[in-house]
Amino acid sequence: MGQLLQCEAVECFEKLRVSYPKTVTALQWIKILSRTLHEGINVHGVYDLLRESLGFLQDKDETFIDLVYQYLLLARLGYRLDLARCVRCGSQQSKRFEFMASEGGLLCASCHSGRSVPGIVLSQVIPDGAWTFFGENLWSNGVVPRVQGLLKNAFLELLGFDNNRY
Ligand SMILES: [Zn+2]
Repeated sequence: MGQLLQCEAVECFEKLRVSYPKTVTALQWIKILSRTLHEGINVHGVYDLLRESLGFLQDKDETFIDLVYQYLLLARLGYRLDLARCVRCGSQQSKRFEFMASEGGLLCASCHSGRSVPGIVLSQVIPDGAWTFFGENLWSNGVVPRVQGLLKNAFLELLGFDNNRY
């Protein structure tokens, strides 16, 4: 086991500290990482993602950045959700889409029919480009709470814990 002898603050994220909601979001991310990364397990890029996300969190809307961070974190952990099309048939047009974590993304109405387990309903797909720190203009009104629910469901089903604020 390694021993930490000295450390130095490289980036203090001063703008986060003066915002309560941003601080809470940042602490939630740390909590999620501590639940996810067990001692001795190294997942490539998760700390780079954290540092980059904290930087954007300073200047951008925390709700949007939180969604992007959680989505990208799931991808780094091996769960790249496809919300841009039906994971079965590839359709991007449907009267409704249902998110199924076990399927890795959305099912169109036709591919979901006959299933007894309901998913989280989205009226439209989320384009792949929405999952960047500059993609906020690709989010339509009203979809954010649905995607928050979808990510909560994904964390519960795929990683076994609640991503809600602690
Ligand atoms: Zn389909």
